[in-house]
Amino acid sequence: MEEIEKTLLAGLEELEKASSSREIIEVKNRYLAKKGPFAALYKELGKLSGNEKAAFGKAINEARGELSEKLEKKLLAALSKEENERLLKEKIDISLPGTSLEEGHTNPFYLILDEIVDIFVSMGYDVVEGEDVETVDYNFTLLNIPSEHPSRDPSDTFYLPKDGVLRTQTSAAQGRVMQAKGGKGAIKVISPGKCYRRDEDDLTHSHQFGQVEGLVVDKGVSLAELKGTLEIFAKKMFGEKREIRFRSSYFPFTEPSVEVDVSCANCGGKGCSMCKGTGWIEILGAGEVHPNVLRMNGYDPSVYSGFAFGVGIDRVAILRYGIDDIRRIYANDKRFLSAFKEE
Ligand SMILES: [Zn+2]
Repeated sequence: MEEIEKTLLAGLEELEKASSSREIIEVKNRYLAKKGPFAALYKELGKLSGNEKAAFGKAINEARGELSEKLEKKLLAALSKEENERLLKEKIDISLPGTSLEEGHTNPFYLILDEIVDIFVSMGYDVVEGEDVETVDYNFTLLNIPSEHPSRDPSDTFYLPKDGVLRTQTSAAQGRVMQAKGGKGAIKVISPGKCYRRDEDDLTHSHQFGQVEGLVVDKGVSLAELKGTLEIFAKKMFGEKREIRFRSSYFPFTEPSVEVDVSCANCGGKGCSMCKGTGWIEILGAGEVHPNVLRMNGYDPSVYSGFAFGVGIDRVAILRYGIDDIRRIYANDKRFLSAFKEE
């Protein structure tokens, strides 16, 4: 009996000293295992007889039970305490400054492009995608551009194998649109896209730039209609007070051809450095579709007429945002782009 008491006390003493769950489990393994001190005591039972055996067995059970119970209790408490400490360590402090993600910005080219497209779509225009890689025919010949015209020169145009070119103007879409209609029915489309010319890049020139081509073909389409359309565009793009004027010009694919100026938003038309003192800023070229262009693409010019215009996306972006160098639009400088937030 003394031996039982001693074993229990020794076990309790060791449990007392154990503080971590790992230490408590060690005590448990040592005392309650198959080869532990209690197991050894059970073996002694065989040497005893009858009543003695029963009393001794009961005492071992009770002692072992007491130690086991206290072990489990302390183990649970230790495990729970350790879990809390772990959670506390892992707790996320939401008041700490985080690593901020850098927000992307839309290039002003696309902000303006979206705006231009929206304006014309609201006026009932359909959007057709042209091809960046065009044929010489669609880019030049079917637009009534004579074979000796300087714009065809390899020093101005990027030629590709098999009669291909990187389109020099979105007008290249005109022939495709008219031919797709088979020479019949009204056309009212815009075709936005990139164009490419062998220009030396500088403040105002880039070898790639964006245009939005407009083409309207129907019976009895007039220049007055073109002027009305471009007036709406100019007011929506540059402000309600803007006016436009036509200046006579020349393009092979339109007759008559006009350069379109918008009254300077900076000075209201009085004259400033932005408009070079004239009060007007050139924004696009336009005109009535040349009869040859209609004819070559299947439309009868004695029945149909039309107008076309080409808006420079970069030009509009430069005017709207006061961008001082066209190359900035293509440089992907994050500091530059961060100035353009989408509304
Ligand atoms: Zn001005």
